[in-house]
This record gives sequence, C-alpha cells and structure tokens, in this order.
Amino acid sequence: MFKALFRLIVDFVFPPKCLTCSRFLKEEENDPVCPECWAEIQLIAPPWCERCGFPLASSFEGTAAPICRECRKGKRYFHQARAVGIYDGTLRKTIHLFKYRQKESLHQILGELLLKYLSQHWSDLKVDFILPVPLHRKRLRWRGFNQAELLARMISLNLDLPLLTENLQRPRFTTPQIELTKKERLTNLRGAFKVRKSEEIEGLSLLLIDDVFTTGATMNECSRALVEAGASKVYCLALARPI
Ligand SMILES: [Zn+2]
Ligand SMILES: [Zn+2]
Repeated sequence: MFKALFRLIVDFVFPPKCLTCSRFLKEEENDPVCPECWAEIQLIAPPWCERCGFPLASSFEGTAAPICRECRKGKRYFHQARAVGIYDGTLRKTIHLFKYRQKESLHQILGELLLKYLSQHWSDLKVDFILPVPLHRKRLRWRGFNQAELLARMISLNLDLPLLTENLQRPRFTTPQIELTKKERLTNLRGAFKVRKSEEIEGLSLLLIDDVFTTGATMNECSRALVEAGASKVYCLALARPI
C-alpha cells in the first residue's frame, strides 16, 4: 500500500521517461523503453551461418547449412551460437545502461527478448543446464552484478531449466575484448576460463548466455573449457552482436 502510494508520488514528481529517447511514458506503458524505440531493434534473421549465426547475404537463401568464413577458418568449440539482434541503436543503448549504468531493472525486457528468441528459433533445443559467461571477481565487485547471470536466471526460471553458476569460473583477469586489436583478442582470453567440477557437466548439453557476442572469442573460450571438461555440446545465445 505505502509502496504503491510512494510510487504514485515519485511518478508525479518525476514522470517516467523512456531510457533511450527520454520521451515521457504514457500511463499504460510499463516498460522502461518506449514501444517506438523498442520496435527499432534490428533482429537477426536467416540466412545466417549455421555455426555462429552471423547474418549472410540473401544470396545464401536456400543454401543448406551455410558456414561463414570465420567459422571455416578457426576452431569453434560451440555447437551453435546465435544473437538476437544487431548491436546498434536501442539495443546497444539498453545493454549499455543495463551493464554500465547499473540499470538492473532492464534485465526484465532484455530477458524477455531472449525468451522470445528461444521460443521462435530454438524451441526444440534440449539442454541440461543454462549458465552465464562468468565475470572475474574483481569486475563483479566493480559492477555489483553479473549481467549475463541475471539474464540466464530469468530464462532458467521461465523455462524451468537448471542454472549452473559456480562451475565455470574466470580466474584470470583480462582486458575487455573491445579495447584490443583483432590479433590481441585471439590470445587475450586463452585459458581465462576454468571448469571446477567436470563431473557435473560430463556428457551434458549446455546453453551459455552472454549480453554481447563481439567476435565470439569469449563464448568460444568458455565453450572450449566446457567441452574439454567433457560437456557434449555447448549452445551460445547473446542479446546482440555487432555487424
Ligand atoms: Zn523511446
Ligand atoms: Zn560462422
């Protein structure tokens, strides 16, 4: 009761605004981002690389299981990786606010985006566990939360999928991939991830969650650690990837 009243007063004094375009939200608009901004998100659709989900030219339409140049070149430890949308505009701004500006409440609409994607594109996916890309404890202390874990937890609750959070660890502190050259990115993450208890994942199929799939190096290194520890298949899902 008091909470509702307090909310009413706060909304009156500081009417809620869309977090990305700052327009005042209407009473019936309950999400922190307005519907116009949300509709601008560019979803990634096929044709895409069968392995990493990279969007391919429309000339690939109808090609059975096309594979992109990057996937043909290097070893991919994940079975399949996908990203919901292009890392740009509203999606980029929302992820930024969520991750760096401590707008934790945004995990709800971002999580819904992942859930919608799973029901549309991966409804037949059979996995034993869902797990987030871990943060190094130093970064976790700075940020206060692991953005990937909040998203994975929401999917876990909604799909009744067991969540695994302590097994995959990140003992080595690394420079963010975004700050490095392409060449440095390849070696930066080597050995950054470790599986603590391999018996927990042996022979199992896993779904790994992250916010952004930049070059895929993070997801790939996590997958490497999981597969080398005995996981049978690793699927990766991110909110966005740059194109
Ligand atoms: Zn807006
Ligand atoms: Zn690919």
